[in-house]
Amino acid sequence: MTSKLTTYAPHVRAIATCAAALLAVVAIEASAKSDRQSNVSQSANAPYPNMPRVAPIGVRIDRHVPVPASAKGPPIDPAIGYRLEELGKDLYMITDNAYQSMFMVYDTGVVVVDAPPSYAAHIAKGIAEVTDKPITHLIYSHSHADHIAGAKTLGSLPTIIAHEETKRLLERAQDANRPLPTITFRDRYSLEVGSQILELSYHGNAHEPGNIFIYAPAQQTLMVVDIVFPGWMPWRRFAVAHDVPGYLAQVEEIRRIPFKILVGGHVARTGTRADVDLQREFLEDLKSAAVKALATTKPGEGVNANTARENPWAVFDDYIDRVVIQCVNELTPEWSGKLAAYDVYIWDQCYSMEQSLRID
Ligand SMILES: [Zn+2]
Ligand SMILES: [Zn+2]
Repeated sequence: MTSKLTTYAPHVRAIATCAAALLAVVAIEASAKSDRQSNVSQSANAPYPNMPRVAPIGVRIDRHVPVPASAKGPPIDPAIGYRLEELGKDLYMITDNAYQSMFMVYDTGVVVVDAPPSYAAHIAKGIAEVTDKPITHLIYSHSHADHIAGAKTLGSLPTIIAHEETKRLLERAQDANRPLPTITFRDRYSLEVGSQILELSYHGNAHEPGNIFIYAPAQQTLMVVDIVFPGWMPWRRFAVAHDVPGYLAQVEEIRRIPFKILVGGHVARTGTRADVDLQREFLEDLKSAAVKALATTKPGEGVNANTARENPWAVFDDYIDRVVIQCVNELTPEWSGKLAAYDVYIWDQCYSMEQSLRID
């Protein structure tokens, strides 16, 4: 397991070698700029003790832990550029294996949920594979451009439904590619079209204000975007959650919905209840590791006297670095092979968790 992890040290050495070679070339230039350079901080010295084998942020690496088979999904035909997956009665996921959206066919039309710009041009083609009915409704999961800014490519604008906070954020964004919702709600909205139902609900801020749950009860399918990433680490800093305690609570909230299939908005496959449970277990372990690291690390240890006297931010940065190193070390043996891209984002997650624990 640990042999798959890339150590950071050889890369630092490689960088140092390159730097030495460059040094000769730029020597003259460097002397001319010496005044300015004297104001730049000193280059890094020795790494902290017990440095994790997972490369830290800011170090380029050439080898990552392989993505486990459990994180992979059915392949995409590159000639087509998307794939359809039927989730239940007339409900489909459409995906490019990086983003995911849905559409639901009813008696006289089609309801689309999200329109990621990365493949929105294919959504009409995907729908045409199963029906010739027109798109009548578009639902926004939340305001983020990477999930909905393909809305314009769906043609003449259908009814657009979103949370009222999403409308507020879109009014501020003034983005022609994200037309404003025409129907908004605060707590719940039930969309009944023909014999089909989608239940929309709001569970508070986590990823960002206005991010909603979209539940298809007949299909036992729940779509919640940017919270749970089936088989994968969350994107960095809990998918840039606006509210980390809210994010942790929302994973619990997802478990309360009686779904069988989860559409998370990302990665190459849908999720199961087991995926949500695994994400929750990881988050609990992460929280425990960060709590312990904060409790057992002393600010200021090993910081030189001058810095300690005049630069409290540097003292604190050193403290947080050592907390996060302990957090990463604690989690790596158990989790590095369980969730894809553990090594890509574990530093970010530990930094985000320790900050939330200190200030939220
Ligand atoms: Zn988002
Ligand atoms: Zn996203």
